[in-house]
Amino acid sequence: MSLAEITARIHKAEEQVGRLAGSTHLIAVSKVQPNERVADVLDQGHRLFGENKVQEAAGKWPDFRNRYDNVNVHLIGPLQTNKARQAMQLFEAIHSVDRPKLANTLARLAQEIGACPDLFIQVNTGEEPQKAGILPADADAFISECRDMDLPVQGLMCIPPVEEEPSLHFAFLAKIAERNGLAGLSMGMSSDFERAIALGATHVRVGSAIFGERDYG
Ligand SMILES: *Cc1c(COP(=O)(O)O)cnc(C)c1O
Repeated sequence: MSLAEITARIHKAEEQVGRLAGSTHLIAVSKVQPNERVADVLDQGHRLFGENKVQEAAGKWPDFRNRYDNVNVHLIGPLQTNKARQAMQLFEAIHSVDRPKLANTLARLAQEIGACPDLFIQVNTGEEPQKAGILPADADAFISECRDMDLPVQGLMCIPPVEEEPSLHFAFLAKIAERNGLAGLSMGMSSDFERAIALGATHVRVGSAIFGERDYG
């Protein structure tokens, strides 16, 4: 599907719930995609991208930033504390703040550097053992802990379990955000971004629907 088609579907989903067309940020998830495909989307004027690995992003985005103005790259995958400094230099936002140790490290580095990317706290809404994210029961306390450290928390992020109806998880995440006074909601991927927008997503993370299937081979 083309970028224009995805954008049209986003606008339609926004209109259906009475939201302003263009009010949802489309994060084009470029992980694993060949550079030609990424360049093609940049050439179409798109500037917001998502990557899930620090190393992979470090290998391609400095060059793209030299070639294109106003590029924004968000980290949407897990972050190890020993890569936090590098991540703060590479990304405009980090969507995977999921534990106190990482929050502490980001706070310390933010003090030292004097700047910090926008942060989203990842919530493990499905309470899946293999998945990153703070457990829902611990979310309120963790959010206030991050705020006490002056971290720029913009919102929450989730990745629903593959076998479950994502809308339940989107609604759950929206509720946690609302009771904590957080405006940002990073939720929705290729298969469910319209449902996420219906439930208030401010950032959708769409990869394969824009770039085609990822070739891990
Ligand atoms: C890969 C990835 C996406 C994009 O998935 P698609 O199904 O290709 O749209 C979104 N969010 C996260 C966290 C991802 O790792």
